[in-house]
Amino acid sequence: MSDTNTSSGHHDVLVIGGGNAGLSVAGRLRRYGMEDVAVVEPSDTHLYQPMFSHVAGGTAPAMLATRPQASVTPAGVTWIRDRVETIDPDGKTVSLTSGRTMTYGQLIVCPGIQKNWGSVPGLVEAMESPSGVSNYEFHYAKKTWPVLRSMRSGTVVFTQPSGPATCSGAAQKPMYLACDHWREAGVLGDIRVVLVVPTPTLFGMPLIDAELERKVAEYGIEVHYGRELVEVDADGKTVTIADAPPQDGPDRGQDGTVSGDRETIAYDVLHAVPPQSAPDWLAATALADPGNPGGFVEVDSLTLRHPRYPDVWTLGDAAATINSKSGGALRQQTTVLAKNLVAAVAGKPLPQVYNGYSVCPFTVSRSTVVLSEFDDRYRPKPSIPFWTGLAKESRGTFIADRFVLPWVYWNLILAGRA
Ligand SMILES: Cc1cc2nc3c(=O)[nH]c(=O)nc-3n(C[C@H](O)[C@H](O)[C@H](O)COP(=O)(O)OP(=O)(O)OC[C@H]3O[C@@H](n4cnc5c(N)ncnc54)[C@H](O)[C@@H]3O)c2cc1C
Repeated sequence: MSDTNTSSGHHDVLVIGGGNAGLSVAGRLRRYGMEDVAVVEPSDTHLYQPMFSHVAGGTAPAMLATRPQASVTPAGVTWIRDRVETIDPDGKTVSLTSGRTMTYGQLIVCPGIQKNWGSVPGLVEAMESPSGVSNYEFHYAKKTWPVLRSMRSGTVVFTQPSGPATCSGAAQKPMYLACDHWREAGVLGDIRVVLVVPTPTLFGMPLIDAELERKVAEYGIEVHYGRELVEVDADGKTVTIADAPPQDGPDRGQDGTVSGDRETIAYDVLHAVPPQSAPDWLAATALADPGNPGGFVEVDSLTLRHPRYPDVWTLGDAAATINSKSGGALRQQTTVLAKNLVAAVAGKPLPQVYNGYSVCPFTVSRSTVVLSEFDDRYRPKPSIPFWTGLAKESRGTFIADRFVLPWVYWNLILAGRA
């Protein structure tokens, strides 16, 4: 259902952002009986971001990562094709770029995360050059595989940022996919593969680290632990790396300080992932968590309700929950939020609690995945209780990640049915 009203408007439930979180929770609320649910979303095209890693690594065509927004907006949900400029939670108003002002009964804030390409000097210039690639934006992901595939020798540097990030381990995925391709092509020995990670280990869970370290050794990847990208010379094709801030917890190392020895590495190809934060406009609202340097929306991490504005809720990448940000986390968050919101509107106690579950599927070869499932303290949280077998490299999890989950996403998750 598309909204054609050009004047001010009111909705019982107004959702900001029609990405993974926004559509899933809107669909769920309709199923739970909420009649008037509207989503503000500026983009015509919905992006399935987990597919970006397969696009960048050459295991999926780009067309599988997108669908028209109209085709995935759940039945009975109003799509307001506009962009939010600011929120006034005291006045209960939302201002849109078109000049409209919306009012709401309940507000759900989920406009995702902001990728701060400009915060590393020289990175924007490097990304606009033929040798700068990334899986973190769709247009860069499309450019990545032709560049990686054609490498026969030289140095490729992969970087993972410190601080909060969406599916932080995804920074490594195209690297393993490319290494497997280079090994198959017989050129891996001629390519110096450098990985820069901000953490002391590859992920932060012993079980997963062991699997990833085995693959790193197999491919001969040179890992720089506890380091991050601080500068790029796009013309000279060099990166400078330095010590990353201490990383403690899922949204790790947010103070942005850089210390220690700087080191310069010459590259032929740079695969970079940028530092990330809440969108600037959102961080400037009264909803932002004053204790969160990333500017994310303050939230009770258990109920997903705002602690100071009880008619405001948040989930997904924009929320200051303490779990690792991922689409997998949303499978639980959407149910918890929708059931709690319905109960709150009916004046009942909130029935649901989010358990901090998150997930990161590492594509460690072109046919296998290491599936990491964990809670907000990076303790194993397997979908099949007490069985950590999915954390071992396997073909089954690759098939699930590449073929099954995308179908589930487009057909069930976005409709609020899974
Ligand atoms: C490369 C990559 C790989 C990933 N791999 C995985 C994976 O394998 N598994 C996994 O579980 N997760 C993965 N993720 C993470 C997952 O995609 C995100 O956690 C998930 O999309 C978050 O959902 P969201 O709705 O919060 O944000 P998004 O899905 O980003 O949606 C935000 C929406 O808000 C809209 N918006 C932005 N600003 C405004 C505004 N001002 N007004 C209105 N609307 C606005 C945007 O257009 C967008 O549609 C990956 C992410 C990336 C980038």
